[in-house]
Amino acid sequence: MKTDNKGFNTKLIHAGAFDDPYGSAAVPIYQTSTFKFKSAQHGADCFSGKSDGYIYTRIGNPTIRAFEQNIAQLENGYDGVATSSGMGAITTVYMALLGAGSHIISSDAVYGPARGVLEQDFSRFGVEASFVNTSKLEQIQAAIKPNTKVLYIETPANPTMEITDIVACAKIARDHKLILVVDNTFCSPYLQKPLDLGANVVLHSITKFINGHADIVGGVIVTKEAELYKKIRHSMVYMGCNMDPTQSFMVLRGVRTLALRIDRAQENALKVADFLQNHPKVAWIRFPGLKSHPQHELAKTQMKGFGSMMSFGLKGGYEAGKKLMDNVHLALLAVSLGGVETLIQHPASMTHAAVSTQDKLKAGITDDLVRFSVGIEDVEDIIEDLSNGLDKV
Ligand SMILES: *Cc1c(COP(=O)(O)O)cnc(C)c1O
Repeated sequence: MKTDNKGFNTKLIHAGAFDDPYGSAAVPIYQTSTFKFKSAQHGADCFSGKSDGYIYTRIGNPTIRAFEQNIAQLENGYDGVATSSGMGAITTVYMALLGAGSHIISSDAVYGPARGVLEQDFSRFGVEASFVNTSKLEQIQAAIKPNTKVLYIETPANPTMEITDIVACAKIARDHKLILVVDNTFCSPYLQKPLDLGANVVLHSITKFINGHADIVGGVIVTKEAELYKKIRHSMVYMGCNMDPTQSFMVLRGVRTLALRIDRAQENALKVADFLQNHPKVAWIRFPGLKSHPQHELAKTQMKGFGSMMSFGLKGGYEAGKKLMDNVHLALLAVSLGGVETLIQHPASMTHAAVSTQDKLKAGITDDLVRFSVGIEDVEDIIEDLSNGLDKV
């Protein structure tokens, strides 16, 4: 069925699905590495591009294509490229868009490995990178150099929850002929559509909201234009960052309930945020849905809802953070986010323990900061768990 003109919820269920010979309701798993050609001519046509038949799973596979086309429609893009992980998506985009002598501007609060791979690996091939607070447009302007090719943003930022203005970044990118890339993992296309706001490329760790069930890792890239799509697909295929058919099957199943899951999770999140902002042991809270968030108004203009990610600070600092981690029981003490289950994390003692104090402070990661990903359990149980944990702090 053609779904490009249908509503978002209809696309979630039907976009990318195709008719197979048996009329399967679910897209089947084509668990095969290679595909048999009907004749020498058919093989030749597949290789030359005259036929869109499948050749080899690293290059393309029907189950993977179904997911790529599903997400491309959800993001209102030209087409999608699925990858083995979110980092597979990020490194594929870097490989496709950067080269010796080129420069990328990224966020100082960007997903850690997305920065690490630029500083430790791409630097060895002559790629330069600057990291600024992208929610401050003047810092982006000041970092632009004659060889800047890419502006890379993540909004809301992790774990500071700062918002970057996508429309304003798209204007800067157009004025300076940069490619604007947005990591949309924290929102998913249900809450934010960067390509509609002027971005050229959007990418995701589908490990988080899009799959939503904490049972696979994966990534995806969607472009606005055909030319960028071709470049990025080339890099993915040649570097071998492909998703596999079973991963695609799992995410096609997970994505169907994206809107339902996010609706429930963000409804819960608002109540949790309200509980936390009134708690005597909580020093501060950052959630885009609260009026106290410095960019609450901007969030309202570019996000359809406020999501279910938040961070908060404990008056007792580092020790209080560790104490809370050991005294919550419903919330899983784990990294990752965006699943049906509530997750809690203390960056200073966990994900960012190896980052220097100076870099942590520059990125807004204080010792008292707790990151919370609200799930779809009964909100009374989530709040009771937090309340009991905070009593022990
Ligand atoms: C998790 C995450 C990634 C990396 O994705 P993986 O699937 O773990 O490789 C990238 N960006 C953001 C914002 C993330 O949260």
